[in-house]
Amino acid sequence: MFAKVAFPISNFQTFTYSVPLNLRKKVEVGTRITAPLRGKTIQGIVVEVENNSRFKGEIKNIKSLVDNRKVATEELWSLILWISRYYLCPIGKVAKTVFPNQLSTNYRPTKYWFVQLKLFDKSFNLNRLKKRAPNQYQIINILKDRESEVRVSSFTSEIKNPLQACKALEKNNIVKLFRKVSFPDSTTLSFKSINKKITFNNEQKQSLNEINKSLENKTFAPFLLHGVTGSGKTEIYINAVKNCITQDKTAIVLLPEISLTPQIAGRFRSVFGDVVALWHSKLNQSQRAWTWKEICMGTFKVVIGARSAIFSPLKRIGLIVIDEEQENSFMQDSISPRYHARDVGLMRAKKNNAVVILSSATPSLESFYNYKNNKLQYLRLTERYGGAKQPKIHLVDMMSDQQDSGKYGQVVSSLLQNKIEERLMNKEQVILLQNRRGHSPIIKCSDCGKISTCPHCQVAVSYHSNSDMLLCHFCGYYERKSSKVCAFCQSESIVYTGTGTQKVEEYIKKTFPSASLARLDADSINSGKKVSSILNSFNNAEVDILLGTQMIAKGLDFPNATLVGIINADLGLYLPDFRSEEKIFQLIYQAAGRSGRSKKRGEVVIQTYSIDNPVIKYASELNISEFYNKVLNERKELNYPPYSWLAKVEICGLDKKSVFNFSKNISKSITATYDGLNILGPAPCYLEKLRNNYRFQIVFKSNKKNDKNGRKIHLLVEQIYRDLKKIHNPKNCKVKIHFDPVSLI
Ligand code: ADP
Ligand code: ZN
Ligand code: ZN
Repeated sequence: MFAKVAFPISNFQTFTYSVPLNLRKKVEVGTRITAPLRGKTIQGIVVEVENNSRFKGEIKNIKSLVDNRKVATEELWSLILWISRYYLCPIGKVAKTVFPNQLSTNYRPTKYWFVQLKLFDKSFNLNRLKKRAPNQYQIINILKDRESEVRVSSFTSEIKNPLQACKALEKNNIVKLFRKVSFPDSTTLSFKSINKKITFNNEQKQSLNEINKSLENKTFAPFLLHGVTGSGKTEIYINAVKNCITQDKTAIVLLPEISLTPQIAGRFRSVFGDVVALWHSKLNQSQRAWTWKEICMGTFKVVIGARSAIFSPLKRIGLIVIDEEQENSFMQDSISPRYHARDVGLMRAKKNNAVVILSSATPSLESFYNYKNNKLQYLRLTERYGGAKQPKIHLVDMMSDQQDSGKYGQVVSSLLQNKIEERLMNKEQVILLQNRRGHSPIIKCSDCGKISTCPHCQVAVSYHSNSDMLLCHFCGYYERKSSKVCAFCQSESIVYTGTGTQKVEEYIKKTFPSASLARLDADSINSGKKVSSILNSFNNAEVDILLGTQMIAKGLDFPNATLVGIINADLGLYLPDFRSEEKIFQLIYQAAGRSGRSKKRGEVVIQTYSIDNPVIKYASELNISEFYNKVLNERKELNYPPYSWLAKVEICGLDKKSVFNFSKNISKSITATYDGLNILGPAPCYLEKLRNNYRFQIVFKSNKKNDKNGRKIHLLVEQIYRDLKKIHNPKNCKVKIHFDPVSLI
């Protein structure tokens, strides 16, 4: 018996191995195995099993199996094949993404030593121990105050070789010493169970009815749940998950960044208890391994998590929820397979005859278009739950505000300042959004006028006041501010301009010294714990003002937050990308949605330097339909998604000239043409140099009228990929293929 195996390498080749007798019953398509390849033992996946092999070379044996039970169910296996075909990625690599290497059903949690004090015999002379065995004495002293057992290794910082001391204590019958599995602490994010009494309103009931009907039908049914912020979308899909479980099925819930949405996780905990698994980037290796194994064993009915949770090895999936479906974080575009978890979710649901709920207050234009074209069933919630009103929105023209006040470069307008003051007096809370971290994003030489950039990337470095560093946000390069001289003219007159969250923080602290402020951005959080402690303290009203980047714009539900201030609404508006307007609109709309979600009516102050810009105008009116009309028209005109399929071929390498030449040669090799196809480039990427790599791109747009299901554009890019081998590639330039890229920059 022979098996063809795919490995996580960058070509589509498979390798033939012989299956040893003892493994014959266990090896089938989709089995993960280890086998020798190029002198190493590596992990691969079986793609075909055959009785005879036509392979003429030496055939080696499969070495071992990775799992002790089947993980690639038929459904997951066919999903792997689809991803491989759709995103043009070798099966071995897809399999590694779906079933990460370090995870296995064989996982045994490590056992650790624990120690606990026995009933303390008063006659025991503790003081004698103090001199004779100070380590033992110290351990007893610590244990005295503990009710439960303590990990022996936790003494390591104070005591040398604590296990030895514990063993001696055990001999004297003073402590109990034992080995125990330390179950992964899933409380690292401290999801507090949040109980609520739920009474659905009519709109909610209607939506739920539709969803429930489809759950009963057991056929593929994709929904777009479009509800204004605070309309109770979360409660709807929680209920749908409940119904799904009642039918003995399982559900996946994707959230853009779960560590930022502890409230939703908390709601799930209170409704579903132990059958919910959380899957996110803040789990450590043993937590991941344990959770994954238990999912395979069928312990969990619901997995809620970030992007990669879409691959959870659950069986009998009945429902997939994708909350904030418009979020770019569902796209994984750094390594192949470059996939979109929403689209993978739709496909996975289709293969399971399951229901999908795409939930959003600001659906992506793709999903909105799909609803218009009857590909998604539309559920609309037009009102906030419980009669909460939409916030009152003020648009501030910063140009004229600063002309009036004479204070140019002022971070906060007089209107926003007054409103903050008012809220602080009324003991209500404020959320401030500035979608840029650091202190000053532009560092300029006042002598020669040049801007400081990262030596590895063609990107400006930002000044971070907390660490007193100049930092590149792309590669992490930094230099000390104190040693900064202009790289071009050696001048020391450097000015720090522009506004990041740290500058806003500085300003607010100076202006409102008695208010307490918490800042939430990539610099202020390095652990999930920190995030939830910041959010908790805002929830408990220990913090008056929550300041942050886009992280704080969505998902959060704080009833006492009645003012949202958007410091600079224009950030990112003029980026040369077909999606920049969509992203800005969504950000403003979502941020506004954090205000006044309960009894008290909210207000929003939007500060802009582009008062006439239609995107800012529509966002400030929360006028979603006009905005969609405008953008859809433009996209149609320019043949961009959702009217076309989009693919991007990115070429990068260390030598600029080679990258350019290679790109040109690739471009020349493309002979196919058809109506509705546009090819742009090759042209330098917007960020032409990143991490020392020069980057060029060729963009393909294929109109859906002529290419209904995207087959033509796929064939075309596949052909390019295949022909690459024939094109001279002098300096080992790399080619990355992106289908349905979320941005072109
Ligand atoms: P969305 O997800 O649409 O922004 P949420 O589901 O977070 O809205 O609902 C907003 C607030 O209203 C939350 O505090 C939520 O618990 C509450 N809520 C929504 N629907 C109900 C309901 N049917 N019964 C009780 N509370 C509800
Ligand atoms: Zn200079
Ligand atoms: Zn850099």
